[in-house]
Amino acid sequence: MTDNTKLIIMAGPCAVESERQIMTIAEVVAKVGGHYLRGGAFKPRTRSGDWEGLGLEGLRLLQKAGAEYNLKLVTEILGPIDKDTSLTKTIEIYRQHGVALFQVGARNAANQFLLNGLGAAGVDALLKNGMNMTIEEWRGSASRLSGEVMLCARGKNNETVIARNGQDITTIEYLVNHTPYKIIFDPSHIAGKREYIFGITMAAIATGVDGIIVEVHPDPVIAKTDGRQSITPKQLEALVVASHAQRSLYLAQKELRESFHGAQIPAYVDIYFREEDLERVAALVKDLETEPYQKPGTGILASRISIGTFGQFRHHGLSIGELVRYSPKEGEGSAQAILVTTPTGDRIKMTPYSEAAVRYRGKTLDPTWPGERVELVRGFAGQPIRDAFLTIDMGRVPKLSETPLIIYRTVKE
Ligand code: PEP
Ligand code: MN
Repeated sequence: MTDNTKLIIMAGPCAVESERQIMTIAEVVAKVGGHYLRGGAFKPRTRSGDWEGLGLEGLRLLQKAGAEYNLKLVTEILGPIDKDTSLTKTIEIYRQHGVALFQVGARNAANQFLLNGLGAAGVDALLKNGMNMTIEEWRGSASRLSGEVMLCARGKNNETVIARNGQDITTIEYLVNHTPYKIIFDPSHIAGKREYIFGITMAAIATGVDGIIVEVHPDPVIAKTDGRQSITPKQLEALVVASHAQRSLYLAQKELRESFHGAQIPAYVDIYFREEDLERVAALVKDLETEPYQKPGTGILASRISIGTFGQFRHHGLSIGELVRYSPKEGEGSAQAILVTTPTGDRIKMTPYSEAAVRYRGKTLDPTWPGERVELVRGFAGQPIRDAFLTIDMGRVPKLSETPLIIYRTVKE
């Protein structure tokens, strides 16, 4: 979506059951202004012998409904459709049926074979969290994909008698603000019961999720799968209207939200920068009305600024680095590193500060600070750079090698 102020609406049945069913629902989804029609053709099931969807026929019906009502399609891929068809071929078949977004379900969220196959094909994916997956593992799965990735929060297996799959709202707030992916909220699989869907959807939109995916059925009581959590077309209408209103409220609160975050308990930091960057940085420090002072005997200028001003440094095309100690890998000894946030928002860890660490990994050490190689600290610094702890050339991180680098150290209060 180019207009990222709009909430993405994905809706449809848990499973495609018949032509009549999917056509009826597609009409409703289109009527409420939905963007994607969902519907499982190949269904993951808990027990052997349970109905597993219409298969290829389901894809055909989905394609027909999507074409008729001008909706994009999202549907789950479990793996190769049968023993004679490769994963690559299967992905091709899905594409031929107009599937725009490949859903990777909770049961396959860490399926390396499937994720690598989708990554190789470069398709866009809706990646659900696994039944019991950490955020780091989820990010790891996302790193295998190469098209657009949307993370779909669907809750986790839990022991409560209320929600089918517990979803911690703090996690949603975190995902929205700390991952580069669109976050899609799945109230249906979280709640498991349709009466909870309205409220939890509003709560999720208030954290800033990018979209929702909801199960809807014209007659939930006779739905073949997930009827208890499927809402009716009338309910969908109300939900979508309320969701857009809630999104507008979220957007309208931008200033208050920023004011809240900007008014954190002030933490002060010392900043350091290279002498060659002095002029540029000093001017900026002056703008920020902080007091620069010379660090005795270091040739480094320092200034005490509040953490809330970091954004302004980035805004001026400066890289921000945090002096950190990192846990060395076996044999490296303790080493210092710099955690850098680039103007593009990437988070990278710069080494080497320790010659021993460099020797251990067989890299060449450029003694000119800040070093010639950088390491990615986390896997979410943008999709072209994939693996966490991957060593990359500075030149691959846009602008970093050209911009002055400010180093800060948090001052304990
Ligand atoms: C579904 O979307 O119908 C589904 C099977 O979801 P999940 O993988 O979250 O259980
Ligand atoms: Mn379902």
